[in-house]
Order: sequence, then C-alpha cells, then structure tokens
Amino acid sequence: MKLRIGFIIVLALLGAIGYVAYTQYAAGLYYLAGQYDRMMNPYGVDPDAPEPTAGDRLFHRSMFIADLHIDTLKWERDPLQRSMFGHADLPRLNDGNIALQVFTIVTKSPLSLPWSRCVSGRMPDTNTPLNFMQGRPVFSLKDRALYQIERLKDAVERSRDSDGPELRLIENMEDLERLVDDRLAGKSVIGGILGIEGGHWIGGDEATNEDVRREMQELFDAGVRMFAPTHRFDNALSGSNEGCTRYGLTDHGRVALTEAERLGILVDLAHISSDGLRDSVELLSSPVTVSHTGIRAECEAPCRPDRNLSDEDIALIVQNGGVIGVGYWPQAIGPSVWRIADVMEHIMLIAEQEGAEHPSHHAALGSDYDGSVTPMIEVGHLDVLTAITRRRDNAFHPDVTRDIFGRNVCRLFGTVLPGGDVDAASELCARLEHATPPPTEAAQ
Ligand SMILES: [Zn+2]
Repeated sequence: MKLRIGFIIVLALLGAIGYVAYTQYAAGLYYLAGQYDRMMNPYGVDPDAPEPTAGDRLFHRSMFIADLHIDTLKWERDPLQRSMFGHADLPRLNDGNIALQVFTIVTKSPLSLPWSRCVSGRMPDTNTPLNFMQGRPVFSLKDRALYQIERLKDAVERSRDSDGPELRLIENMEDLERLVDDRLAGKSVIGGILGIEGGHWIGGDEATNEDVRREMQELFDAGVRMFAPTHRFDNALSGSNEGCTRYGLTDHGRVALTEAERLGILVDLAHISSDGLRDSVELLSSPVTVSHTGIRAECEAPCRPDRNLSDEDIALIVQNGGVIGVGYWPQAIGPSVWRIADVMEHIMLIAEQEGAEHPSHHAALGSDYDGSVTPMIEVGHLDVLTAITRRRDNAFHPDVTRDIFGRNVCRLFGTVLPGGDVDAASELCARLEHATPPPTEAAQ
C-alpha cells in the first residue's frame, strides 16, 4: 500500500515538473516567435518624406481609404491591441483612417537564398517552425489557412464589445453598402475582407476538377472573398513570377479561378507569372486585382524587377478593368516614398494609352504591412502619402487621390462580391465623393 502511495506521489511530482517544463518551453517558443515578428516587420525611414500640413490631414480624414493587402494574421499579436512592434493592428489602422482592409492569409514561405534566381516550393518552409512556435497547425496548409480565418472572425466578435473601432467582416454587397453608409455617418467601423495568398493545397495529380471546385466552395463558405492562386513559388494552379519554371495557369488553376468568379471571390494576380496573368485575364470576365506590387519600369535596386509588373502586364489589367495595389516597401518601389505616386502615375499613363475611360480607376493602395517587408510609410501616418499626391510637381487632382485611396477598391468589390454589379458599385462608391467637404484654403 505504502509503495503504491509513494509511486503515485513520484508520478504526480514528475507530472508537475513535466507540466512546468512544457509551459516554460512553450512560453519560450512563443517569445521567440514574437522576436522573429519584431525582426521581420520593421519600419523604414525616408528622410525626404514630407510633413503633412493641416490641409493634407483634413483631406486625408475626408477620404474612404482601402488597402488591398496586409499579412497581420500571420503573427500572434492581437489584431485589436496596439502593439509596440510589427506594422498594423486595428488601433493603428484607425489612426491611418483605413475604412476597408483586406487581411491576407499566407500558409507557406519557402526559404529563398540570396544567390538563387528563383524560389522553389521544395526548399524548407519558414512558416512551419513559425507555426510550431506559435502553437498553430503545423502539418496541413489548409488547416493553417482555416486557423487564420478563425483568428480574424474572433477579432470581429471581440471588437463589438471593445472600446476601439468595430471590425466588421465584409462578405457581400449588402455588407459593403452598410460599411459605406456607416463610415459616411461617422461611425467608427473598419471593414475586413479575407484573402488567400497561394492556394497550395488545391489541385495537383491526385485531385479532380470537382475536388478543386469543392475546395473553392469551402473557402467561400469560410468567408474568403479574395483569392491569389500563387505566392512566391510555382504550384499546382499556376507559375509564380519568382518561381523556377513560371508557367501559366494549369487546368486546375482555370477551374479554381472560374469557380472563384462564379462564387463572387475577387481574383488576385499578385505574385503570378506573366503567362499566368495573361491566361487569367483571358479566362475571366470580371475585373481582377494585383493586390500588392510595384512596376518594372525604372525599377532600381533595391527594387526587384521580377516580383513587379511589366508595362504589358499593366496594360492587360487595365483592359480587364482591374485594379493594381501599389506597395510601400523598397523591393516594390525603390528607395524613395515619392516613387509610390510615380508608380501610380505610370499606371494611369498606361491606362490613358489603352483608352481607359477613367485612367485613375486602376491604381490603389497595397501596403503589404506585416508581410516581412520594410515599408517606408507607417500606417498611422498614411497622411504622408496623401501629402505626396498633393505636393508633387504633377500633383494629383483631389478626385484622382480619392479614387486611388479607396474608391477604386470600393468599386472593385462592389462589382465582384455576391449581390454586386458594375452599376450598383459605381452608384454606391460615387457617394464617397461627398465623404466630408474638401479642405478649405484657410486650412492649408
Ligand atoms: Zn505577397
């Protein structure tokens, strides 16, 4: 009897020691994941960035601002709490006057070596140890995506009882209309749209077309409303612009994008190969986006030509009626924040050559905050970018700035989302002209 009690005590002690060791170990890993986040998502500084005037700030506050891409869900920071590191969270998005934000989901990021000329899906995946350290799903890419979807939905739920702005999931035209109305009424609400960057688990040798359609339906049912078939490496749907073969859309890629269009999911051609981009705009009749990119023209180091759009790519997006989200980090735009507006102007000039009815309807913001990049504009100081569009030699007309900062994305989702169409979208987003009165001269 004594022996048995002694045995139970020893076992309980071992269990307690094991539990403490495990929690310490898990806490240590969690801490390391936070340090990794801090290291991967710093802000850059451009000493030539202008200081916004009172007039710039007032104009900035008067706009409905939308951003096509942030990777905040990849990290363990609470999206509702203001963090001391990383790029974005709801309080900071609110500081920047963001009204509509696409939260994009990354599931796999293969190690890319500085000397290799392409990114291979066979290289070790840096998301695997990160997910392990964060206590997230490790083995299934689809589970990794579903986890991040739940993370946003959880933040949406909690935001309703918080002191901060409300975060609202936008899944259809009705949601978008309500968001526009509430923002015009001055309510503190930010619309969130779920996007996927790389459908790596969809399609392939083992899959049928029916399997591909089912996977797309599952993403739609989970709330996903923007879908990029590829990320930085070639997969079973398409080649990537940094992949090792860079082929166009595969048969399964065609099935996936056709299904996305049918369901009301916006197709995002960020990271896709040029062949994949051409195939996609030929296949689809709805407008598409390239959510976060730069342009190859005048792309000087540290700008990386491969991941950015050629003039031919831009012309195809314009012909499709699509929208290009311009990024803020040096690999997309080069060393100066003023280049952000130059890139936008370049897109408008191509649109003009292509005979676009409204050349300013094809550029937007695609920050890639929290995407392991070094953006040169802080989300809370996005009015710096407004100042740039107003102060450059060839200053943008206020209407052009309003288009680029949000109206184009409003129209795009209003056209593509379930219940939306071109006419309803243009009627809805035209209301944003009257967000608040334009700044008076006295405020300049
Ligand atoms: Zn990306």
